[in-house]
Amino acid sequence: MANIIAIANQKGGVGKTTTAVNLAASLASMKRRVLLVDLDPQGNATMGCGIDKHTVEHSACDLLLTDIPVADCIQRVTEPSPGFDLLPSNADLTAAEIGLIDSPDREHRLTKVLARAAEAYELVIIDCPPSLNMLTVNALVAAQGVLIPLQCEYYALEGLSSLLDTIEQIRESRNPTLCIEGILRTMHDPRNNLANQVSTQLITHFKDQVYRTIIPRNVRLAEAPSHGQSALLYDPQSKGAVSYLALASEVLRRLDKRQQVA
Ligand code: ADP
Ligand code: MG
Repeated sequence: MANIIAIANQKGGVGKTTTAVNLAASLASMKRRVLLVDLDPQGNATMGCGIDKHTVEHSACDLLLTDIPVADCIQRVTEPSPGFDLLPSNADLTAAEIGLIDSPDREHRLTKVLARAAEAYELVIIDCPPSLNMLTVNALVAAQGVLIPLQCEYYALEGLSSLLDTIEQIRESRNPTLCIEGILRTMHDPRNNLANQVSTQLITHFKDQVYRTIIPRNVRLAEAPSHGQSALLYDPQSKGAVSYLALASEVLRRLDKRQQVA
């Protein structure tokens, strides 16, 4: 059974989608079988993988609201070789969020979808929308771990506590083994004193839960999506691409360690 990791933070623009696409591409380049699930109606992860969200015939929305086969929805992202699979999304997912409200198993729809698909993969990465809505709840119920991207700025820790509350609630009511996979410092600029202070505070509070890998602010990471590519494809030598490869290794090491303990 695959390790399912939800990439969540209700704050927008903290690097969730950048992390989802580049982590999926990095893991795939390490020959891991990966499924990337775009669970944001903005479809940024879909576009960032080079797939036009406007031409997507079956999106994650259809999977959440109907019983169509998962295979009808999956698209193959072929590069970096050997590539990975994507469950694409577009604005239809907003309809899914509303449609789910009347469904009796509304919080478990994604869990059921992934139960039909996850066997084929070692890792499933879910890119969550920037809110704690029913789509994010579906991701947190389906996942084993949450990866939290965080920009080290003044309000970052405040936002983090409401996300941690939500995770705790999901753990108590729906998914008792849900863990914090790790907290990831993104868009980091070491010349910024405040960023360094928040980074230190983060380590004081969350210790080993903070990934050692830090994602620097890097223009290549920002440019790559407009070419429909991960940074690994767009500019493999860039600091951004290299830092996401390091993150992929760290994620795998942590998962291995946890499985040894279990
Ligand atoms: P979210 O999914 O949390 O809303 P995104 O991943 O879309 O955040 O990132 C927000 C913006 O910041 C995007 O334009 C993205 O290209 C850019 N960005 C993300 N990470 C970096 C980084 N490490 N360096 C430079 N730009 C980044
Ligand atoms: Mg996003």
